[in-house]
Amino acid sequence: MKITTASVNVCSPGRNFTTLKIETDEGIYGLGDGTLNGRELAVVSYLREHLIPCLIGRDPFQIEDIWQYLYRGAYWRRGPVTMSAIGAVDMALWDIKGKALNTPAYNLLGGKSRNGVLVYAHANGADIEQTIDAVARQIDLGYLAVRAQSGIPGLASTYGVAKGNKPYEPAERGLPSESLWSTEKYLRHVPELFERARQQFGEDIHLLHDCHHRLTPIEAARLGKELEPYHLFWIEDPVPAELQEGFRVIRQHTTTPLATGEALNTIWDAQELIREQWIDYIRMTLVHAGGFTHLKKIADFAALFHVRTGCHGATDLSPISMGAALHFGLAIHNFGIQEHMPHSAETDAVFPHQYSFDAGYMYPGDAPGLGVEIDETLAAKYPYQRAYLPINRKMDGTLFDW
Ligand SMILES: [Mg+2]
Repeated sequence: MKITTASVNVCSPGRNFTTLKIETDEGIYGLGDGTLNGRELAVVSYLREHLIPCLIGRDPFQIEDIWQYLYRGAYWRRGPVTMSAIGAVDMALWDIKGKALNTPAYNLLGGKSRNGVLVYAHANGADIEQTIDAVARQIDLGYLAVRAQSGIPGLASTYGVAKGNKPYEPAERGLPSESLWSTEKYLRHVPELFERARQQFGEDIHLLHDCHHRLTPIEAARLGKELEPYHLFWIEDPVPAELQEGFRVIRQHTTTPLATGEALNTIWDAQELIREQWIDYIRMTLVHAGGFTHLKKIADFAALFHVRTGCHGATDLSPISMGAALHFGLAIHNFGIQEHMPHSAETDAVFPHQYSFDAGYMYPGDAPGLGVEIDETLAAKYPYQRAYLPINRKMDGTLFDW
């Protein structure tokens, strides 16, 4: 089998998605997600100008060799743009191989290690009572794990909390919006949210929380300690992860489990975090971390150090990523949990898929390959629109981490 052509589709059914389609001389094609939220066209250009020309004529079954060719062959390695472009190619090749062998991708990864993929939902509200109501709604839908984020008294808006009655969606069309932040107000508020949640829902439900990179290590240590009585599943991204050693300080002070990695791209970004056992869950995604070929290596390395996966799965990734993540989560041994935000009806219509949710778990389906398609005619009705993630400043105007 030979790759004959490849093309990139950028569509915006509510938000932007970048899709790579690789076609072969046997009529089989594969799809890969290359969406990099807020920087979509950089990946599009990388694919069109630099990777696609190198793919034509290659055997799509030689996935490892193609991966190494694109990674090592660039000389300028790593980074979110490069790794998302390679991730899209890799996903599409696994899709082709599954279709050619007439088997779902999870079988290519070693087969099922479990019956279903435990997922966590998002719940948020303008204050604690509204957040508790939102958690209750997710439990009613069947979720066994829920991430809770609450508005903070004295702050007009914050990460994770929706505006109006819409689902939470940070990417906005046009230039970046700006919000103001106070770590002091945040740290005073969060323990109360989880005290209330445990009172209301008992110990059986898994509760999670995302700090979204906004604390220093010692602030995160304080939060982790104060949350210990409420037995969280994890706190996510307590500090920015460029400095892997920052997690050592947090770890010395608290037994609240830690998760990070959604903004990381390679095993080299996380090797100290994992080897030193400073985290419990690694959150890198198939799309941003070079596809199945690289994320499988990261997961296997993590398994040696008691670290499990907890892959990012917000709506900033397309349904192709979601489907791929479910094959991955079903197959690998050290799976922990998978994030799940349902896509909009518009997005689901553009990307028909086999995966499903039932009673807290998701299932990738048994279609060959990834089990996700793209309706290119419908996609064409939603042209790309520039969008950005918001900017965050401290109360005195200092630019801070979003
Ligand atoms: Mg996150």
